[in-house]
Amino acid sequence: MIKSVLVTGASACLAFLLAQASTAARPSAALPQAAATPVEAKPEGLKVILLGTGVGPPVRLDQYGASTLVEAGGKRLLFDCGRGATIRLVQAGIPTSSITRVFLTHLHSDHIIQLPDLLLTGWVAQLGGPPGRTRPLDVWGPDGTRDMMSALETAFAFDIHMRRDVDEKLSAEGIRVQSHDIKEGVVLDEDGVKVTAFLVDHGPVVPAFGYRVDYRGHSVALSGDTRLSENLIHHAAGVDVLIHEGYDAVAARARTTNPALTEAVIAHHATPEQAGQVFSRVKPRLAVYSHAPATPSVMEQTRKTYAGPLEAAEDLLTIEIGDQIGVRHFVWK
Ligand SMILES: [Zn+2]
Ligand SMILES: [Zn+2]
Repeated sequence: MIKSVLVTGASACLAFLLAQASTAARPSAALPQAAATPVEAKPEGLKVILLGTGVGPPVRLDQYGASTLVEAGGKRLLFDCGRGATIRLVQAGIPTSSITRVFLTHLHSDHIIQLPDLLLTGWVAQLGGPPGRTRPLDVWGPDGTRDMMSALETAFAFDIHMRRDVDEKLSAEGIRVQSHDIKEGVVLDEDGVKVTAFLVDHGPVVPAFGYRVDYRGHSVALSGDTRLSENLIHHAAGVDVLIHEGYDAVAARARTTNPALTEAVIAHHATPEQAGQVFSRVKPRLAVYSHAPATPSVMEQTRKTYAGPLEAAEDLLTIEIGDQIGVRHFVWK
């Protein structure tokens, strides 16, 4: 059974939401259920799927690497491509070949490490399934994105040559990459779908971006990696859904073996109390964590500074944004 909840702005039942967050089924190390039936993007809707919500480079089985899918006006927009993004896409019933637009918040490895898989596997037809990608992969990101994607093409030149020119004769267009080193501002404006990049504050990691997607009067903003950012608060004004990172400094300090390093990491991220301050000032209809630990402690710390509707970080959480906001939890086996 899929658990779902409708959020209707400020009238949402906080207690119910809290109960939802604390009892939501969690992914386990067990094998996931078979991939869902492929889902077509609906042209009328704005939908978000948290593909991976984990924090940082370490391998985790319960929360994969940072990656979020936004569907708007029939377009699929992938924000970051952390570890497991392609697996989560298939679990969500979305062919990897249908992803042709990728937006990178910054070039930390935990946000990009699955890009080679998306680039190469998305180009190859799935056995008995959808065909491979036949149009270029567009990638937007900070300075260095073009160089990185070009280097990936070089690194995988043998496979590309074999499949394109010698063996399968796959689409030459499908393996082309169109990279865009971006500045703050509108980076895509097509068929009513507008994607705006804005600078956030990830300490010395400059530039680092957050993104906002607007479509037919509805909107979602993603923080990327940032400590409390006034520029984010400015650009997220009026959004329906704000997805923000959170770093549990209390837990990190309690388990660290390298306090100096831990303090440096904390300084580059937002604590749950700070994320709560951001949520309180932006006042989205729904606040959502991603790139945050899926722990009760994070939610409790957030409640010191924010009392509105809130969802914990959870892989494959689906959020439908319209007159109402629907939240659907994935069924894990
Ligand atoms: Zn990160
Ligand atoms: Zn980072």
